Amino acid sequence: MQKYYVEKVRNYIGGEWSLSSSKEWVKITNPATGDEIGQVPAGTAADVDAAVAAAKKAFSSWRDTPPAVRARYMFDLRNLMEKNYDELLSICTQEHGKTYEESKGDVRRGIDNVETAAGIPMMMLGDALEQVATGIDCVSFRQPMGVFGIIAPYNFPSMVPLWFLPYAIASGNTVVVKPSEQVPFSQYRLFELLHELKLPPGVVNMVNGGKDVVNGMLDNKDIAGVSFVGSSPVAQHVATRCGATGKRFQALGGAKNYTIVMDDCDWDKSINNIVDSAFGCAGQRCLATAIAVGVGPAYAKLKEQIVARAKQIKVGEGHQPGVTMGPVISAKHKERVLGYIEKGIKEGAKLLLDGRDCKVPGFPNGHFIGPTVFADVTPEMTIGREEVFGPVLSLSESPDLATALQTAKNHPLANAASIYTSNGASARKFTREIDAAMVGVNIGVAAPMAYFTFGGSKGSFFGDLKAHGKESIAFYTQNKTAIQRWW
Ligand code: NAD
Repeated sequence: MQKYYVEKVRNYIGGEWSLSSSKEWVKITNPATGDEIGQVPAGTAADVDAAVAAAKKAFSSWRDTPPAVRARYMFDLRNLMEKNYDELLSICTQEHGKTYEESKGDVRRGIDNVETAAGIPMMMLGDALEQVATGIDCVSFRQPMGVFGIIAPYNFPSMVPLWFLPYAIASGNTVVVKPSEQVPFSQYRLFELLHELKLPPGVVNMVNGGKDVVNGMLDNKDIAGVSFVGSSPVAQHVATRCGATGKRFQALGGAKNYTIVMDDCDWDKSINNIVDSAFGCAGQRCLATAIAVGVGPAYAKLKEQIVARAKQIKVGEGHQPGVTMGPVISAKHKERVLGYIEKGIKEGAKLLLDGRDCKVPGFPNGHFIGPTVFADVTPEMTIGREEVFGPVLSLSESPDLATALQTAKNHPLANAASIYTSNGASARKFTREIDAAMVGVNIGVAAPMAYFTFGGSKGSFFGDLKAHGKESIAFYTQNKTAIQRWW
């Protein structure tokens, strides 16, 4: 493993690398070792304004570039990412802590989106109908809108910005990306690859930093729209501010994902799947199972089998062979997750597996928490209500499917949900009635592929057009309809 170190993370504006105007720099550490791996600027609105000016300048000639030519940059980017795949995986594991295997999911899903966006000439096709009235034809085009801002969370450093950037630029817009300040290196390396593509300067720009950069984007009048992924309170802030400044927005927020387990499920396969969903990426996935509900006799089996399987998880540094779960992102986040475990105990949930005292030999400064399982969790408890975003699985009991469904539907967040069953009628009822917009049937991480729409509902999503798939193209373009008569 080659150590990836960037002393000072720079911005990429107008085809050039530059230092932030910020005076404040924040240390980035490897979550498994605690070692410093570089510094990121706090970032400023002035940095954003410079990037938006470059993006605005590039827009008029980029939108005139034929879609098939823009698509060719996607083929080239895909090839560069494949060529540098192993390095991208290792950077992801170093900065985030997820295992090398899990980084494959992160980077591969990013590449999937680049490949899908290479189909932009087909995806952007409009409509036409001749003779809408005598001698009159009607055509509609999808046109790009200008500069888009892209704001990412820390949990998928490589993939999340690629849910947006490929579609935004392939459809003729220009972009300013703000990676998470906790994990800036995957995007830093991606922008080095984008630089090699020799895109016209200003088509892709990157500004590093935290909330001042976000707010700078939200207030910049030359940004046409914002794609955001993060926690629900910040998603709502983005939505409100974009509404006030007249921008389009798609703001994907937090999650509290329910899984319902019926006694007629395939137990061996289901338990493996649920444990992977709850503890993969140390529970830091917006599609992670947070609460598994055992229906009737399934509850007793669920408790026993989940604990037995979760005990087999090997916690450690993500490059090490055999390791199946890495640390959480930071010391601060570890404290937060431990705080939730304390609250669970205090509020009466039964701690079946305690991951608090997790030590990894050779990595004394890593932010490790072992897999933790609570039983008898109710919706009123803090761990039953709030997003923990760590390796903590809550179990609860329900007398029947209808009650379990209603409990899940009562939660204000509705990102993803899963059912485990061999009964088609139960699966159909669940799929039809659950509020969550990403649904798994015998699938623990119901992540739509690049050509399908990604995003939740209720408090997990603000906006109307979601990420990737067809909705993405609708988000990044506006429709123009021309009604034509030639005398
Ligand atoms: P976060 O909300 O703390 O940060 C997300 C982005 O917003 C970052 O770029 C950050 O710099 C910025 N930000 C943070 N606080 C801000 C503030 N007060 N004002 C303006 N900007 C601010 O989220 P996170 O901790 O990086 O990521 C974890 C969250 O993301 C979880 O809630 C998870 O469920 C969610 N998530 C959702 C999806 C989805 O598809 N719905 C996908 C991945 C992650």
